[in-house]
Amino acid sequence: MKLIYTDSLVIGAGLAGLRVAIATKERGLDTLVLSLIPAKRSHSAAAQGGMQASLGNTVKGMGDNEDIHFQDTVKGSDWGCDQDVARMFAHCAPKAIRELTNWGVPWSRVSAGPRDVIMNAQKVTLHEAEEAHGLINARDFGGTKKWRTCYTADGTGHSLLYAVDNQAISMGIPVHERIEALSLIHDGKRCHGVIARCLVTGELRAYVAKSTTIATGGYGKIYEISTNATICEGIGQALALDTGVATLGNMEAVQFHPTAIVPAGILTTEGCRGDGGILRDKDGHRFMPDYEPEKKELASRDVVSRRMTEHMRKGNGVDSPYGPHLWLDITLLGREHIETNLREVKEICEYFLGIDPCKEWIPVRPTQHYSMGGVRTNATGESPQLKGLFSVGEAACWDMHGFNRLGGNSVAETVVGGMIIGKYVADFCEQNSLEIDTALTQKFIDKLQNEIDNLVDGNGKENPFELKKEMQRIMMNYVGIFRNGPELDKAIQELKALLLRAKNLGLKCKKRHSNPELVEALRVTRMLKVALTVACGAAARTESRGAHSREDYPQRNDKDWLNRTLATWPDAESLTPVLRYEALDVMKMELPPGYRGYGNDNTIAHPDTEKRIIEINKVIAALGDDPDRHTLQQALMPYTLPSHLLPPNERLSDTLAITPSQPVGNKPL
Ligand SMILES: Cc1cc2nc3c(=O)[nH]c(=O)nc-3n(C[C@H](O)[C@H](O)[C@H](O)COP(=O)(O)OP(=O)(O)OC[C@H]3O[C@@H](n4cnc5c(N)ncnc54)[C@H](O)[C@@H]3O)c2cc1C
Repeated sequence: MKLIYTDSLVIGAGLAGLRVAIATKERGLDTLVLSLIPAKRSHSAAAQGGMQASLGNTVKGMGDNEDIHFQDTVKGSDWGCDQDVARMFAHCAPKAIRELTNWGVPWSRVSAGPRDVIMNAQKVTLHEAEEAHGLINARDFGGTKKWRTCYTADGTGHSLLYAVDNQAISMGIPVHERIEALSLIHDGKRCHGVIARCLVTGELRAYVAKSTTIATGGYGKIYEISTNATICEGIGQALALDTGVATLGNMEAVQFHPTAIVPAGILTTEGCRGDGGILRDKDGHRFMPDYEPEKKELASRDVVSRRMTEHMRKGNGVDSPYGPHLWLDITLLGREHIETNLREVKEICEYFLGIDPCKEWIPVRPTQHYSMGGVRTNATGESPQLKGLFSVGEAACWDMHGFNRLGGNSVAETVVGGMIIGKYVADFCEQNSLEIDTALTQKFIDKLQNEIDNLVDGNGKENPFELKKEMQRIMMNYVGIFRNGPELDKAIQELKALLLRAKNLGLKCKKRHSNPELVEALRVTRMLKVALTVACGAAARTESRGAHSREDYPQRNDKDWLNRTLATWPDAESLTPVLRYEALDVMKMELPPGYRGYGNDNTIAHPDTEKRIIEINKVIAALGDDPDRHTLQQALMPYTLPSHLLPPNERLSDTLAITPSQPVGNKPL
């Protein structure tokens, strides 16, 4: 057995994992990162449209601040998020942007003077202030009050990941690539690292650490069609689930993005609609204003995806051999804009559809995109159950997204979360010693070795690839955008049957080293448990909130369901998770539950909502006329942050007396 010791072990070399690794390395701690693939190929590189931060540099972002970003995030989450975490996040996002700039991210910049943009299908000329010239630009995104999404064309994730990985390399942080973590080492109270398998040699290794951070990304690939990379299989969530102790949070909260291309499922960024692209049906009709007259194509993602699905169900989709789809029309943006700001989208259309999006409409359909659920942590990123286990990024349920994530808030979460949680991980490593229990470590090595021996030497007949395909089909058909009791029950029954069949997996290829069939067999059982956790959580939650939309329970029910689902897997023989719930305390909320701004207000109110509103009004009254917004915020919901992150953010509007220019010259197209 190969034993490797470190202080801070990070599983995952995407933006979130690398940012935690940088934070612990900066403190002089021995830091080690594991990754399935080279760091620069992590899924973060796929992020296209941008990163939200309330810089307020542009005329359409002027007046933006942490308060508005916080409110957008809470409303976006359909009041499912942890408001403390949303506050921490909104405050630190501008700091993260500036840090990334120092590390070399080539953000798109503001040019002073007039610029033509498309808003509501009309050409509008905006005038950017002289003082803003050269500052970081931002585009519009769904569910936001201000233009807040900072970007590098539509390759934001690529430039961010390269900058952060280069920073990690310059600090000498080792990344062990082509290594798959498959089991946590723990004693039920404390996590001591992981057992991992080298995907090249098949060697099992024990990585023993003071802290272990799961930063393995989302679980999109439990679905048949997803914008996610093939590595987003939820093995990080399964690591926690398999402990029987650590909880997963809100696993049923799964986002479907409105505009993935048909049939490949590759994303075209929300930036397409943010920059003025519109959605059309089979008759070329722009239908979103019929459903959402105010926000139109820029309603929250969950809302747009549902409206699109509704519209197709009414027979307005375009028939295709791959099922109905709708059109995304960005032709109105013009070739120059597309080739400058949406060049990845253009390439995707050319390579995967054989069309020129400057001239032709893009076939799109809502597709699985993001995992709001994940390893449940407290605000410092630590598992409440397993000391020394942390989680960050898409892998985690920290929980700033609740039941719907806003576009641009995910890459922002990876770096902000990494910055904040990384500090707490470093504190933990400094305050705790390395505990090496070789018998415990050997127990977990033996368990994994047995699993591999049974797969390779056993006589099982089930094909792992087929089981996985079947699971993905079930999730797509029955645990999708619209959900209902009978279909969710069917999903659970069928997934349970697959989990039973997975006990009889057999391999045709008996190699113990580089063997994709063995890799798939090890993953599929874990993925099935993750899928069952999603399906069971969805079946139990008899309300609609954010991306979790029940046809049989269409109301958001704050009275009974203003809570977070917590899931554990009781033991190896179990076929379903154990679910319990963590209440969200309305009396501590800065923004009590309210109308989200889409469709009809269809909420069953929480009994404390009225009480909290009265209390908030009293706090405001006690502060007198026109209190400073920071004082008011602290009075309503004090939250903590590491001290170096506490200073207020500076903005152009705070330091210069700027009167933002008004849009002029509305020229209909
Ligand atoms: C196409 C696309 C476009 C997007 N665009 C945007 C956008 O414009 N703005 C935005 O905010 N968000 C966007 N997102 C979401 C955002 O990109 C992701 O949520 C975010 O980058 C996830 O980062 P992460 O560090 O948490 O995980 P990832 O970047 O997914 O990294 C996961 C890491 O974990 C490793 N790993 C996984 N399992 C194991 C294991 N068992 N053992 C060892 N290592 C493991 C992988 O090798 C990888 O290094 C987009 C997502 C997609 C799919």
